[in-house]
Amino acid sequence: MAGRELVFAPLGGIGEIGMNLSIYGLGDGPRRQWLIVDCGVSFASEEHLPGIDLILPDIRYLVEERRNILGLVLTHGHEDHMGALIDLWPRLKVPLYATPFTAALFEARRLSEPGAPEIPVNVVPLGGRLALGPFDVEFINVAHSIPESNALAIRTPAGIVLHTGDWKIDPTPLIGAPTDQAKLTALGDEGVLALIGDSTNAVRDGRSPSESDVARTLAELIRTAPARVAVTTFASHVGRLRAVADAARAAGREVVVVGRAMERVVQVARETGYLDGVQDFRGVETYGYLPPDKVVALCTGSQGEPRAALARIAEDEHPEITLARGDRVIFSSRTIPGNEKAVAGVINGLVAQGIEVITDRDHLVQVSGHPRRAELLDMIGWVRPKILIPAHGEALHLAEHAKLARQAGVPHVLLCRDGDLVRLAPEGAAIIDEVPFGRLYKDGALLVDAQSRTVAARRRLSFAGIVSVALALSEKGALVADPEIELIGIPETDAAGRLMADIARDAVEETFETLPKPRRSDPDSVAEAVRRAVRSAIAERWNKKPICHVHVLVV
Ligand SMILES: [Zn+2]
Ligand SMILES: [Zn+2]
Repeated sequence: MAGRELVFAPLGGIGEIGMNLSIYGLGDGPRRQWLIVDCGVSFASEEHLPGIDLILPDIRYLVEERRNILGLVLTHGHEDHMGALIDLWPRLKVPLYATPFTAALFEARRLSEPGAPEIPVNVVPLGGRLALGPFDVEFINVAHSIPESNALAIRTPAGIVLHTGDWKIDPTPLIGAPTDQAKLTALGDEGVLALIGDSTNAVRDGRSPSESDVARTLAELIRTAPARVAVTTFASHVGRLRAVADAARAAGREVVVVGRAMERVVQVARETGYLDGVQDFRGVETYGYLPPDKVVALCTGSQGEPRAALARIAEDEHPEITLARGDRVIFSSRTIPGNEKAVAGVINGLVAQGIEVITDRDHLVQVSGHPRRAELLDMIGWVRPKILIPAHGEALHLAEHAKLARQAGVPHVLLCRDGDLVRLAPEGAAIIDEVPFGRLYKDGALLVDAQSRTVAARRRLSFAGIVSVALALSEKGALVADPEIELIGIPETDAAGRLMADIARDAVEETFETLPKPRRSDPDSVAEAVRRAVRSAIAERWNKKPICHVHVLVV
């Protein structure tokens, strides 16, 4: 057994926040067996990727290697760790493993998607251990911003790997146990070859405040609110939902849950016991009957999502929930980079109505679920790995995590990127190869390769519009009808008030007339010359070049 190669390859999540997918391989060449950890999405920003909802990792390599895959283990239920499974699992059909809450949340998500396939998940108990071929996977409890986040201790004949997943140290989390320091230290005593670790907050000094600190702030803000209160947070943050519910109860208020994602998580959390002892929530239909000082609305939409509850409330377009001057809205959430404009839009909509808005800029109403530098050092101290590979972060986060690990005396710190194949054992860590990787876009009901030109063309269209020209030519190369020209998404007139359509028409006709006779009977040559002329004629007036399509019909 000794001397067998143990490798690690990230297919997503390194160099970006989101789309986490890691694979561990044991054995040599074609006999290598694989363990997959997580299968998440990234969220697309409307500006860069118009019409795209989600970004998924390209798993063509795993499809190729499918027969050698022993299973896929989920560390926790956040979308950046399991959000790609509904779309991608049918291509792999490998056994899935998750702890009870994650499994239940996944099932609820799946059922919410029309036409989603049956996807069986094997439920692993908290703190459980799983034998998958040569991989012995132990789930170790860590605190995070969703119930049941797990670090994975992966024991192999070539050494032990600790895959931290998403974690922080919180001595007083509102739900679940604190990060299992004893187990992690014992693992360190056993000897850890490599630590693959969360780098999200590696640029932040000190320690993250506790969920209990946030709960205290929320209780105070809800207690002192003069009228209605609405709180928005990530739907999956059950600890936060619990904090809001407890604060509401202490203030003699009922909780109304608003938004489907929130309702779904509440139901899963009830079933799995994470809201035990919390009062029943009321349906949205009761909202209108409750006095303003007797209600807290728990809403989706903390990222400014236009169809979510809070955006509709801010636009005064929600059928059941209204807010008015003097009411208070608390953003118990962080704005994910890329969503700033959307969130600002919602906040402005609320403030314009005289509603008081509270965010983490002015009160401790949000803490991160990821470790800051002092916490990262604790983890390194407990586990004492020989190799550390920063993961779950953008380039800056990874570099800072690496620097910190070197300062802490980790003998071998290795920075890698998506698609790198890293040898962990034997003989020291090194990048030895590259595996196929990439991105897929969820485009409506379809998955498209990010390399395909679909989305780039859509972006160009949205930036500079399109001119469509149709020409009818005789076989001898004479125009047999007036050109048909249509402009879409282009200003109607230039600065001098000339119609752009006329400018395009002149360009078409002049070009055609100046074209040498023999070329006029060659449709391709006509199309290309006209296309160039139209684009530059419009660009001259507009400073922007539209897409131009020329159809030449020989009649
Ligand atoms: Zn994550
Ligand atoms: Zn997470």
